[in-house]
Amino acid sequence: MDEIKDGKVNIERYRIKEGTKVNLKKYSTACDVVIDKAKVKSLYFPEVIEKMKDLQEKLYAQDTYGLIIVLQAMDAAGKDGTVNHVFANLDPGGVKVVSFKQPTSEEKDHDYMWRINKALPERGDIGIFNRSQYEDVIVTRIHDLIHKGQLPQDLIHKDFWEERYEQINNWEKYLHQNGFQMVKIFLHVSKKEQQRRLMDRIINQQKNWKFSMSDINERQYWDRYQELYEEMITKTSKDISPWYIVPADNKWYTRYVVALITLEALKKINPQFPKLAPEVQEQLEQFKKLISEVDIKSLEEIKNSIDKK
Ligand code: ATP
Ligand code: MG
Repeated sequence: MDEIKDGKVNIERYRIKEGTKVNLKKYSTACDVVIDKAKVKSLYFPEVIEKMKDLQEKLYAQDTYGLIIVLQAMDAAGKDGTVNHVFANLDPGGVKVVSFKQPTSEEKDHDYMWRINKALPERGDIGIFNRSQYEDVIVTRIHDLIHKGQLPQDLIHKDFWEERYEQINNWEKYLHQNGFQMVKIFLHVSKKEQQRRLMDRIINQQKNWKFSMSDINERQYWDRYQELYEEMITKTSKDISPWYIVPADNKWYTRYVVALITLEALKKINPQFPKLAPEVQEQLEQFKKLISEVDIKSLEEIKNSIDKK
């Protein structure tokens, strides 16, 4: 295992290069580096968050680029915890978190991208997608929802899923060409750790509210889910919108890596505070003079009034 100095994990180890055929079994679900956990929590993680905040402020001020972070995972892999611990630290005014659940009847009445398009962040903002357009090539397939839905049945043919990957890739390229960058994160949890967390939701009264019968039901399809995730990541990890497979068995490490990935994405955008036009700059100089004069005057007035007493 690589030994990490000063918390400097190279996130490239988790990025899936375009064209790589993914076999999830080859990717670690547990922290796969030697790193000081206590220091990550008390020092390195807070430092990364501070740097993220700094760049987020610039992204917001510049108001030209937008960033979308997609989170996909098996149940109980820690999507919600990641959102709460990583992104809740940012300025809420510039962050938009959207969770995609089972489509409502209104959403089913449209093409699958309709609700995703509606949820896109504005320029200057960071959009967090808790589940995403990728549910439409995963859960839809597991439960054969396409045949049960409203899509004209004559449009379903053997290349249907290939076409869907193509649509998603084209859409992400379109967004990129319009100033919206996307990074996609798969939280890779082991079957054993999922079992432990689901059990915890049953036994631990404070976690009972998180328990859902559907999590147990979906667990039966574990292998099929893994297969589809492999295919999906293989087909849709692109240089402009890469997938990262992040170990998810150790929450403290997952959160640290997700923060590092986000920081890297922001650095790549390299946002800058907008430069003022020369005439505005000149006006500001005049205001500066005016304010200092006003201050001196009012100070003198106060002084005089005190002297008179
Ligand atoms: P938690 O981790 O808290 O359980 P969650 O993201 O699993 O959060 P749930 O409300 O439990 O939230 O589940 C949402 C469900 O909606 C998931 O089972 C998911 O597969 C399903 N879903 C999301 N998008 C679609 C879609 N396009 N078609 C069908 N089902 C979908
Ligand atoms: Mg759930």
